[in-house]
Order: sequence, then structure tokens, then C-alpha cells
Amino acid sequence: MSIVGVKGTHDVFNSESCEFSFVENVMKRISEFFAFTEVRPPVLEHSELFVRSVGESSDVVRKEMYTFNDKGDRSLTLRPEFTAGIARLIVQNKLTNLQELPIKMYYCGPVFRYERPQLGRYRQFNQFGVECVGHSNPIADVDVISLAYTILQSLGLENVTIKINTLGDEESRNNYKIALKEFFAKHIDNMCPDCKQRLELNPLRILDCKVPEDQEIVKNAPKMSDYLTPAAKEKFQYVLDLLESMGIPYEVDDTLVRGLDYYSDTVFEFHYKSSKGNNYGAIGAGGHYDKLIKEVGGPDVPGVGFSFGVERIVSVLKDDDLFPKDIYNGLDFYVMPMGASSQATAVAIANAVRMDGYSVDMCLDDVKLGSMFKRAEKKNAKFAIIIGENEIANSKVILKNLKTQEQLEVDIGSLRETIDDLFNENECECCCGDDCDCDCEDGHECHCHCHDKKEN
Ligand code: AMP
Repeated sequence: MSIVGVKGTHDVFNSESCEFSFVENVMKRISEFFAFTEVRPPVLEHSELFVRSVGESSDVVRKEMYTFNDKGDRSLTLRPEFTAGIARLIVQNKLTNLQELPIKMYYCGPVFRYERPQLGRYRQFNQFGVECVGHSNPIADVDVISLAYTILQSLGLENVTIKINTLGDEESRNNYKIALKEFFAKHIDNMCPDCKQRLELNPLRILDCKVPEDQEIVKNAPKMSDYLTPAAKEKFQYVLDLLESMGIPYEVDDTLVRGLDYYSDTVFEFHYKSSKGNNYGAIGAGGHYDKLIKEVGGPDVPGVGFSFGVERIVSVLKDDDLFPKDIYNGLDFYVMPMGASSQATAVAIANAVRMDGYSVDMCLDDVKLGSMFKRAEKKNAKFAIIIGENEIANSKVILKNLKTQEQLEVDIGSLRETIDDLFNENECECCCGDDCDCDCEDGHECHCHCHDKKEN
């Protein structure tokens, strides 16, 4: 019997690989424009890190972690999210002492949650996100939301809904929890076993319950907004005013509490409904945290971050046909040696052209020319370089445009120059002025190098 992949995992290959790379590269590039730098925490952490930070009452810790004892009998967990690991990394490496605050980091990689697999929900999936640690002004929250919004817009996701709420400060939350406890105590006998536990551990988590009968009860529960301290209210209003002034649309949703315990004050989610109407749930989410860094042994500094679900974003872009056509790897050249005696020259030419920055593959089998053309077509090659025995005798090769079928004989000595000319011919000629609004093929990213020219 053959072995299949683990339930809830998925293989990414061929065109989907190009789609993942495209999405991740846009996210990385724009995060770098916002002065975030890359961080690569380990996948494995001590289980206690997540219990302490994400919280014992959260579904993630209670039901979803991949936890095991290693051969040294340590309890380890495959990260179910990045934020706790980054907080640990910041504290362990004393970054709050060594670096200018705020520390701004972005990450990208797999996370693991034992959830029920369904559309847009996996057990191993990828998150891209950022953390901004060490700045208490709510403007940091807005900066992070603005980064997330810019990324989504750059990917072409125009109709994003930002749902936002505040969980207030500790005092607000404690008052709210008392009110929730009182309210749910009256209904708890008719609620699910999970909610019974949540009532004891953290009544806020009941608001996240997905059981339809419980959701009906939740609808009548007290609202967070009625328990905010004046300071928490003012902070939230400041965040909303800043978003408004930046033209970032939002909807206040006072049922939004987020499933991870470390959040305080601002929390938010990004929603997008594809034009086909498929609902993938939240494509990203995040919030502010006051005590997380302290909780893992660091100084009392706050942070804010968000995390996108990369699979969900790839799915909505695919659904709405928003991937640029030029992201799919096509070969620039397919080298066709005709006969064994041409192979050494073919390898040398292929490597030289690769060194000039073009993608080149070569036919390794001694097959007929027709068969080589079929292979070139399958590989989506733009040009063929045909190397025959006669041509080698004259130090020439044939360069054939596989789209137009035009071909020319080129001296091997001037092949690289000819290729450069050919590609530069196809490159857009833009004004290179301040208002460069070059509109290359299909409206894709400008290849014009005007920035390099400006610098020289
Ligand atoms: P969270 O860390 O729970 O706030 O999740 C952040 C984002 O990750 C969500 O908004 C989703 O886009 C994505 N996500 C969460 N759980 C899953 C899952 N099981 N499969 C795929 N994506 C997920």
C-alpha cells in the first residue's frame, strides 16, 4: 500500500509554488518598505511557552497543539503560531536592551494546529506576519494595520473588510469578565461542555464558541464596550481616528475577541469574500498585546502584530483570478544538442547563458529534433538554441523564437550579446522620470531599471 500525506497537510508544487512565492515576496517586500526585517524562529519550542502566552483557556492550547516528549523527555510543541516564539526570541536575546525600540520583525513559515480539515483550514499551514515590539503609542497599532492593508491592496484584494474591536486594558477586561461570568452562569447548564470549562478558565472565550445554540445565547451577552475604562475608550477612539485620517476603512465589531489570551486593547481581523461568493473566513488577524513580553520573562513593554493565512490568500487570489500571468515559471531557453558530439558545446552554452541571468534547460536525451521541440513547448520555453554538428563546425548555433517561429543563425562568439539585445528589445522603454508610470506588458511590474539609472 502506498503512503499518503498526513491528513490536513497539503503539497505545494508547480504553478501553485509560483503563487505562494509571489504572495510571500509581495508581503516581504512591502514589510521591508515599512522597515520590518526578517526573523526565523525555530519550529520547535518548549510547550510551556504556548501554555503561558497563548493561554490555557484557548482552543489552540487545549485542543490543537502538536505536543510530544522528545527522547530527553522534554515536552515540545510544533509552533501553533509565531508571536509567542518571537516574544521568547526577543527576551532570550535581550533585544529590548540591545536594539532601538520598537523592534520590527516579519516572519513567514509553517504552523501546526490539530483542527478539523475543511475548506481553507489545514493542520499544517503557512503564516506571514509581523510583530512591532516596544512602543506604547497606539500609532504603532495603526502602522501595523496600515502595513497589512497595503499588502492586501498590492495583491489586488480591494474589497477587504477590516473588523476591529478593543479588549480594553486589564481593568476593563476584569470588569467585563465578571459581567460575563454572571450572565453565562444563568445559561451554562444548556451550553456545550467546552463552554462549561471556558466559564471557569476564561469566560471571554465563550464569545468564540461555534456551537449554533450557544451563539444564540452569546448574542444577548453583555458588550465589552460597556465595560471599558475611560482610558481604554480614549485609546481605541484614537486608533479609529488615525485609521480614518489615513483613509483605511474599518467596521467596529464588538463581538470580536480573538482566540489567543495575550491580546489587550486593539484587536482586528481581515475578511474578504471572493467574487464567486466563497467565504474563506478571516484571511488575517492580529492585535495589541501588553503583557506577553513580560509573561515570557522580559521587560514590561507592549507589542502589536498581525498574521495572514498564506493558503487562504492564495485561494482567494486564485478564485478571483488576480494572479499576474507572468509569475508562472517559463523557461527563457531550451538548448537542443543534435547528436552526442554537440552535447559538450550545448552544456557550455547553457551554463554561459545561465550566468547571464536567463533560465535555461537542455535536452539530455539523444532524440529527434521534433521531439525536442515538443519538450520545449511543454516547458513553456521562449527560445530554442539548436546546436547541430554542421553548426558547430562553423562555430554557429540557431536561435529560434518559439512564439513567432522566426530563427536566425548566430556566431557562438556573439550569442550572449545577441541574446541580451533580444531581451532588451522586449523590455519596456519607460520615461525614467519622476512620474514613471510605465505600463509594461499586461500592466505588470515595471522592468525598466529607472531606479538604478537615477542612482547613477
Ligand atoms: P490566528 O493565528 O488564529 O489569528 O490566525 C491568523 C490567520 O491564519 C487566520 O486569519 C487565517 O487566515 C489563518 N489560519 C488560521 N487557522 C488556519 C488553518 N487551520 N488553516 C489555514 N489557515 C489558517
